[in-house]
Amino acid sequence: PRRAAALGIDIGTSGARAAAIDADGNTVAFTAAPFRSSDELRQPAFWWLRVKEAIEHLAATTDLGAVEGIAVDGTSGTVLSLDASGEATGSVLMYNEPCPDTAIVTRISKHAPTGATAVGANSGLARAIHLSHGHGVDAVVHQADWILMKLGCPGRPGDENNALKSGFDLDARDWPTWIEAAGMDISKLPCIHRAGAKIARVSGYLRELGLPETAWYHAGTTDGCASFLATGASAVGDAVTALGSTIVLKLASRNPINAPEYGIYSHRVGDFWLVGGASNSGGNVLRALIGDDRLDYLTRRIDPDRPLGLGFYPLLREGERFPINDPQHPPRLDPRPADDAVFLQALLEGMTDIERLGYQRLHELGSPRLRSLRTVGGGARNPVWTTMRARAMGVEPLPAKSVEAAVGTATLVLANRGNDV
Ligand code: ADP
Repeated sequence: PRRAAALGIDIGTSGARAAAIDADGNTVAFTAAPFRSSDELRQPAFWWLRVKEAIEHLAATTDLGAVEGIAVDGTSGTVLSLDASGEATGSVLMYNEPCPDTAIVTRISKHAPTGATAVGANSGLARAIHLSHGHGVDAVVHQADWILMKLGCPGRPGDENNALKSGFDLDARDWPTWIEAAGMDISKLPCIHRAGAKIARVSGYLRELGLPETAWYHAGTTDGCASFLATGASAVGDAVTALGSTIVLKLASRNPINAPEYGIYSHRVGDFWLVGGASNSGGNVLRALIGDDRLDYLTRRIDPDRPLGLGFYPLLREGERFPINDPQHPPRLDPRPADDAVFLQALLEGMTDIERLGYQRLHELGSPRLRSLRTVGGGARNPVWTTMRARAMGVEPLPAKSVEAAVGTATLVLANRGNDV
């Protein structure tokens, strides 16, 4: 069997996953430990329990003696509070939970510089500030940070990707002082490393699981960045489109782009910047107006060589952020063709156009033209849509190497193994 060179742990909304990859980035072993109920999703004790389950199963079936490092990704924007011993107090705010104290959100908008990613009702910084005010709270960290701590990493480590939503300043490479004015005690925040950077040699629990003493704890990343890396995308110009319930574009860029009006910000990952945007259009419209069970059958009746050109803009309700920023942007779904295969074709053409416009928008804002395009999500398996998209985007679609965030996080370890601490 091939030898494991790097480990990645993903802690997400469905549970924990662990991946081992070899030196060429191929998956050697993969285990999943799902949450048993939705209650577990919000409880740090269960995050850790499921991570242990996944990694111990991996260790029992895989030789970890040549592993060079381990890193963790978590849901971006999920924060928890810790007591003085580094244990979770039990208070958590998930990535999609607005800060319960709106005064904090207001205070942030007053102090944040223009273009800051930490503003708005769903601000990660607002969640962190709220938790930091809790009784007996010594620290506020991100989900991935805490798992790395539980795995034995010394200090209070964090990474730039998870820290971005909490207000971290990527240029200064530090927590900016304006977040103190907004109510954050910076001494309670993690110590931030570049995503994937080596932090310390592994110890304790991981050594017992069979990792060698030469292996490193590496700083982690967000689930979104990890999913991008998992596909095999690795260089400037590589793009990944997620065709799930919404359409999400990600592109490796030489320069960062910040366009808050479009919901665009940039993560530093390795030697490129990961930029992206999300449209409200996507599979949610297909599911609601056509129904998932009929998509395959209707798709077979579409001839992608005969475009309809109806100019549909598939949305379930008005309002779009990217590639068009207009809270009143109307859905365009009329006149609805009598034949649902024709209707589906018009919807797919509309979404193809949104994707094309999205990459064009990113290009206008300073990112490179597409060099490659990989696709993940439910829509990736639609051959007709794939044909339409390849034509519109002008690149040959590539298969995603993996769709597992844990694999992407392990890739990040490999990419940083030659670097100094
Ligand atoms: P998410 O994780 O965002 O909920 P998934 O990646 O699981 O979504 O994708 C689900 C979406 O993919 C649904 O909205 C569904 O309508 C769409 N979908 C599923 N199969 C197809 C298909 N054959 N063609 C186009 N879209 C599809």
